[in-house]
Amino acid sequence: MMAQSTIAVMKDIIAVQSSPSTTFTYVPAETKKRKREAKVVSRPCHPGPFELRSEGVPDEQYAEALHCMLRKCRRLVVVVGAGISVGAGIPDFRSSTGLFQTVKDDFKLKGSGQSMFDSSVYKDAATTSMFHSMVNTLHTLSQDAKVTKFHQMLSELSTEKRLLRLYTQNVDCLEISLSGLETAVPLPVKAPWPKTIQLHGGLQKMVCAKCGWMAPFDPTVFQEDRIPECNECREWDSVREVVGKRTQGVGRLRPRIVLYNEFNPDGEAIGKVTSSDLKARPDGMLVVGTSLKVPGVRRIVKEMSAAVHAANGIVVWVNEIDPPAAKMFENCFDLILKGDCQEIPSILERWEKSKTRPKRAPSTRQKKSESASDIVSSITNKTISENDRKITDVFKVKKKAVGRVNGVKLEK
Ligand SMILES: [Zn+2]
Repeated sequence: MMAQSTIAVMKDIIAVQSSPSTTFTYVPAETKKRKREAKVVSRPCHPGPFELRSEGVPDEQYAEALHCMLRKCRRLVVVVGAGISVGAGIPDFRSSTGLFQTVKDDFKLKGSGQSMFDSSVYKDAATTSMFHSMVNTLHTLSQDAKVTKFHQMLSELSTEKRLLRLYTQNVDCLEISLSGLETAVPLPVKAPWPKTIQLHGGLQKMVCAKCGWMAPFDPTVFQEDRIPECNECREWDSVREVVGKRTQGVGRLRPRIVLYNEFNPDGEAIGKVTSSDLKARPDGMLVVGTSLKVPGVRRIVKEMSAAVHAANGIVVWVNEIDPPAAKMFENCFDLILKGDCQEIPSILERWEKSKTRPKRAPSTRQKKSESASDIVSSITNKTISENDRKITDVFKVKKKAVGRVNGVKLEK
């Protein structure tokens, strides 16, 4: 029987309605014996919002804080949503041109397009067919998409050993194709965990809802007019039939993504990773391209921000829209950057360039000093080689002496 707390964690991670229960137990950093000074000391005097511009020298007030965070943090946590993939040509979910709206228009839905991402799509053949069509479109878009500058920046952060964890709500799998941002499916319940945690699964795999058999996603399986039956289940059932046992039925294949109001198979593992990351004293957090509508993700951001602040780190919000006005996010974000997250790498570069002093040509005095040093070096080398020769001579004399005493000829 599964422990009550484990069930609570699983329920929280899946996209269910908000529950007042606390999912993660966070131990405040002050209670820990060992105190480490955070590397990030630069904070803007006010959180903004600041506008992310594509040209010119960026505003000093936020650029320095951003620089300190991305160049000095050692345990950075990044939480991302669909906004980071818009630059790759994959629509977001909730904007006026997002998936919820286009799905609603395409399928002439009466309610919100969100219903196409709800577990109820499997309730009848018509909605299942629409869901398959949408999933195939999303899969094709993901396959054709190229990673963005922002994805690459995350990969570099990981290579530089600054990234503690990347939590992604995206199912497009763009990030996991990059070096240092690999994931594991299914997510292990015990450490070591991969760098990227897919909070809502991903379109790289399909899975049998009955037996759990898993394989790379195949769009031909999810055609509108057919039920994608699991071959493993079918084979197993035919074996049972041969030995005279009753049939157990054949499971249906589905993309390994988590829909609203659905159980998350990685829920327990995600709870464990999050708890571990909270204890690791993250020193910075970047929340990018997500409107934080999913309760489980809101809680991760809330609790992780408390841990970051306890470590004297900085929490940054990057989005076209404002952070949620909810009370739980009061004083959560130290810096609010509004605009396209793809601007961040170039903003950082422009600001750092503006701070770099041009290198001066070596002065006459330096040249003199260098010449003097060269002379000293040549004298030293000479001395050493002379010493070496003297030592070798002494050794030869000793060897000769030993040879005479023992009557053995040591040298020719
Ligand atoms: Zn199966």
